[in-house]
Amino acid sequence: MTDPQQVLAAITNGASPEELASLGTPDSTRAAHVLRSESEMWEGVESWDKDPRQSLHVGDLPLPEIAPDEAVIAVMASSINFNTVWTSIFEPMSTFGFLDRLGKESIWGKRHQQDFHIVGSDASGVVLKVGSAVRNWSTGDHITAHCNYLDDQDPSAHNDSMLAANQRIWGFETNYGGLADFAIVKANQLMPKPTHLTWEESAVNALCASTSYRMLVGDHAGRMKQGDNVFIWGATGGIGAYATQLVLNGGGNPIGVVSSPERVKLLNAMGCEAVIDRQAEGYKFWSDEHTQDEKEWRRLGKKVRQLVGEDPDIVFEHPGRSTMGASVFIAKRGGKIVTCAATSGYMIEYDNRHLWMKLKSIVSSHFANYQEAWEMNRLIDKGAIQPVLSEVFTLDQVGEAALKVHHNQAEGKIAVLCLAPEEGMGISDPEKRERIGEDKITLFRRHARGEL
Ligand code: NAP
Repeated sequence: MTDPQQVLAAITNGASPEELASLGTPDSTRAAHVLRSESEMWEGVESWDKDPRQSLHVGDLPLPEIAPDEAVIAVMASSINFNTVWTSIFEPMSTFGFLDRLGKESIWGKRHQQDFHIVGSDASGVVLKVGSAVRNWSTGDHITAHCNYLDDQDPSAHNDSMLAANQRIWGFETNYGGLADFAIVKANQLMPKPTHLTWEESAVNALCASTSYRMLVGDHAGRMKQGDNVFIWGATGGIGAYATQLVLNGGGNPIGVVSSPERVKLLNAMGCEAVIDRQAEGYKFWSDEHTQDEKEWRRLGKKVRQLVGEDPDIVFEHPGRSTMGASVFIAKRGGKIVTCAATSGYMIEYDNRHLWMKLKSIVSSHFANYQEAWEMNRLIDKGAIQPVLSEVFTLDQVGEAALKVHHNQAEGKIAVLCLAPEEGMGISDPEKRERIGEDKITLFRRHARGEL
């Protein structure tokens, strides 16, 4: 039994790897989880009314032995991603199905098939122990973890690992995720923690930022060029806020869409000048449940031309059913609609004539391979891209935090403190932080506090 408080004390006192190792390997952890026995609890309840505070529990659960290619990490902080919302509302399906499939795959996979599901797909923290096959990481390393959970014995993983037949998202399609004091990761999920950031600032990036990187920058999806106009739905949201920064950093022109004057202000403060407040404009792309209104698509397209004088080269799409018709319509001739999600519904409708006659393409994208996640982490480490941390919750408040994301009440990302007892810890290079600029790093936090 490893005492989390002793681990925390050792980390904060800068204990040596030997001292950390002497604290043993945790065989249980405090963790946010859902229960198989509650999978049917939301029968007949509307999505919006499903409250993660009722389904996300926090309590002690057993941790298994690690496989040779794995590591146990002490999680200082984690974050809320939309996938934790999906798990907590058991939509579009219960995630226990994923655990059962993984359980059938191998002896090590069997460890994941439990009646609890420890969630969370982001983490910053410290390596406590590594398996016998791990070469590049060791006890005491300060890390962040990305969520591409990969079977590297599968041949399909060796071109682009996101194409692996059994690719999974850690903490969503696997157990022992990051919303816990201790978590289990594969060694090839680990990346160096940016030295100028706090634990909570380091914990919010990997999932959303890497997803946006692949969608816009990596070789596999948008491949944005300098000068491209990129239309971004939810431009201050989790993936959208990284997309906006990546477009600005890569010499493109973002056209950001948000839904309130406060979010317009935040986008402007990020350096995005072409902004659309979709609430103020009152777009109604669906005139009823079955019919879309092309006039409204045209109205949006006209607005984009007013703002930047051209149609978008790339549309960064994720709301899904409510916006896809408009997204396909407004992309320029030969343009791309890059999609990674369907928050408002996955049965999509668009007018195919606008796609084929204008030679547009819809490109799908899902998370990121290790190299893409690593390159994104490097940009954050260099201070070229900032964490979009707006709020911080404790692990005991995880349900409340997930509800905020579920109800679109948060900008950027929400961090969750796990072992870290308070905000502001974990910066190991204060000079670098000063060089990059406190104001830039904390923009979303200051906005959430009403300080902008
Ligand atoms: P988020 O932080 O909640 O941000 C999403 C933003 O989209 C909201 O802030 C909202 O911004 C906008 N939005 C929501 N519903 C909309 C609608 N009906 N029409 C227009 N805009 C709408 O969520 P996120 O973390 O960015 O994730 C977004 C989606 O991507 C989720 O479904 C998530 O599961 C998915 N995702 C997929 C991957 C992947 O690897 N495939 C990775 C990350 C996320 P405004 O209200 O300000 O317009």
